[in-house]
Amino acid sequence: MAMTDDPQAPQVLIVGAGPTGLVLALALRRNGVRVRLIEKDLAARIGQRGAGIMPRSLEIFHLLGVGDQIESQGIYSPRVRLYDMPEGTHAIQTFDMQPWNEPTPACPYLNIQHLGQDRLETIIRSTLAQLHCHVEQSAELIDFEQYPDRVSARIKTKTPDGQLHEETSNFDYLIGADGARGVVRKLLGLSFLGETRVVEHLVVGDVTVEGLTEEYWHMWGDASTTLVSLRPTETPTTFNFMIGGLDVDHDSLAHSNEAVIRFIYAHTGKMREHGMNVKEVTWLSHYRPNIRMVDTFGKGRVFVAGDSAHVHSPTGGQGMNTGVQDAFNLGWKLALVANGHAKPSLLDSFTEERLPVIADMLDQTTVILKKAFNGRIRSEEEKHWVEVVEVEQEDAEGEVKVAGPSTKEPRPIAAKEDSDTEDLEDEDDWEDDEERAGRQWKEDEKRPGSLLQLGVNYRWSSVTVDEQEQQLSKPISKRLIDLPPTPTRHDSYGRGFDGCLKAGDRAPDAPALRGIRHTRGEEQKSINTRLFQVFDPTKHTVLLFTRPGETIASYAPVVEALKAYPAELVRIAALYRSGVPSPIPTLEGIEYFLEDMSGFARDAYDVRGGCNVIVVRPDGVVGAVVNGMTGLKRYFDGIFSRK
Ligand SMILES: Cc1cc2nc3c(=O)[nH]c(=O)nc-3n(C[C@H](O)[C@H](O)[C@H](O)COP(=O)(O)OP(=O)(O)OC[C@H]3O[C@@H](n4cnc5c(N)ncnc54)[C@H](O)[C@@H]3O)c2cc1C
Repeated sequence: MAMTDDPQAPQVLIVGAGPTGLVLALALRRNGVRVRLIEKDLAARIGQRGAGIMPRSLEIFHLLGVGDQIESQGIYSPRVRLYDMPEGTHAIQTFDMQPWNEPTPACPYLNIQHLGQDRLETIIRSTLAQLHCHVEQSAELIDFEQYPDRVSARIKTKTPDGQLHEETSNFDYLIGADGARGVVRKLLGLSFLGETRVVEHLVVGDVTVEGLTEEYWHMWGDASTTLVSLRPTETPTTFNFMIGGLDVDHDSLAHSNEAVIRFIYAHTGKMREHGMNVKEVTWLSHYRPNIRMVDTFGKGRVFVAGDSAHVHSPTGGQGMNTGVQDAFNLGWKLALVANGHAKPSLLDSFTEERLPVIADMLDQTTVILKKAFNGRIRSEEEKHWVEVVEVEQEDAEGEVKVAGPSTKEPRPIAAKEDSDTEDLEDEDDWEDDEERAGRQWKEDEKRPGSLLQLGVNYRWSSVTVDEQEQQLSKPISKRLIDLPPTPTRHDSYGRGFDGCLKAGDRAPDAPALRGIRHTRGEEQKSINTRLFQVFDPTKHTVLLFTRPGETIASYAPVVEALKAYPAELVRIAALYRSGVPSPIPTLEGIEYFLEDMSGFARDAYDVRGGCNVIVVRPDGVVGAVVNGMTGLKRYFDGIFSRK
């Protein structure tokens, strides 16, 4: 129930309309929560930024009803062409950044889509507008105070004619999706520990280029000296560029569009003479590596999500995607709490579930960053030093400075933890230019499959229930960088996937389901469907897998027990094997009776220990794998406040 007096007043204030804030707003609006979404900038941002949309994010976007639009506008990553230098015109290697994966029944999206973050944000903004939620531009959170029953937020707004106003408004919850330099994390007093790296800077942006084929992602050089990367985008002649390397003067490049254009010509060999025409830089940004995370996602009625809670290297393309998953994990829980269906303690599971995933993600993106930069090192000064600095050392603008001597000894990144980077100073190990030009990109320099984020799981979560015989929770190897401790290390990216579906895993899809649907107050309908169409971001879906010889009537006690929970928030789908005599689909309370025509559902949900009842949460994660009523009750009693 809303704590604020006005029944029309927004229940939740979201600060920041980047991808995290927008996805959270969409998840909350779909769940009927009244949201106010403020953004301090005057207008929506431009630029490709986090353009790589991972398969798991695509699944989430489909659940939220924006997946088709994103897919129709996005493009798949083209093959990478690495050119010879200094000529720069002949491809010495052509490879897939991510090998093409054929979709499977359980994973319909297995390839990375590219769509500029500005386009993605436009799609979500317009969907939000249809749900009566409009981003309030030029509205900035200045401060907030928490009380037992509300959060009071001080917001500064600017009218189109430039008038400044300040207001104080009350909300049930406040979410900081205000990015790496946001105020919410700071006002909450959360720590933001990790590393600031002093060498691996990148200058990134968008540039119009003519006379260069858009069939390939073009690269010249390598990040150990000078790297120029031009990736085609969904907009003809617009390329996303990335310039990096130890020989690059990033500061001067980052302040001049003309300098960027000159640099691209200078470091792409004779491409200009071959007709490449670099015309206009439309977006430019200087990336300074910070690798940091909070040690909790919130306190009381205030939470942080996305870049506001974790910053890291853009290598691996995890940032935007991780913010989307933060938002989707938080969205349904916050909706249940804000609408009075769950106790606020459910929100503790946001930190419990997401923190190990973030720690793991920071490790992975850092490994890729190191590998990209671990080429030739010429002097002591050019060593990749890492210093651990505290967030208190940020300057007034929020820019993280590299402090002088830190409390810990600086260490080179070529530390023993990463054996690939050992012995970098040994002259004998250096490749000469010819060898380097012909060097094959090693397999491990390409994106590992786990970055697709389909293995991200919450098997350790205290709000999931699994009645299979063994609980698997594999600890991962030693941390690579110093980050706040998480209670236990887990295989949160599912790299050591054991092939067994557990509570906390992503719920797989299953196509080729045929049957009928009963919706209250409506005629029953014949349908052909798939599980991803049955799942709903506003409901828990209980999948009942009938055993051979079993009739649907044997589920009557389960269906009866589920009536203790809000009917509009729990949907039941009974699945039966194709070829067995079909059960009589008459049990009231079951919405779907589905014949698993090709056995895809049975294959994907082939759980052990006689468990044939599976609960899929609104965020498309398996919440429970149980035998029947007792397990179901344990799960739902942990989620819902009882009627
Ligand atoms: C060059 C580059 C390449 C990248 N590539 C990828 C990639 O391929 N894949 C990927 O997943 N990620 C990538 N990322 C990362 C991705 O862009 C970010 O992780 C993502 O934008 C984070 O989203 P967010 O919503 O959490 O924060 P942001 O996008 O930073 O949004 C925060 C918003 O909050 C607003 N705000 C701040 N303070 C206030 C306030 N007080 N009041 C109101 N509003 C406020 C800001 O103006 C901003 O609009 C890349 C980033 C860069 C720079």
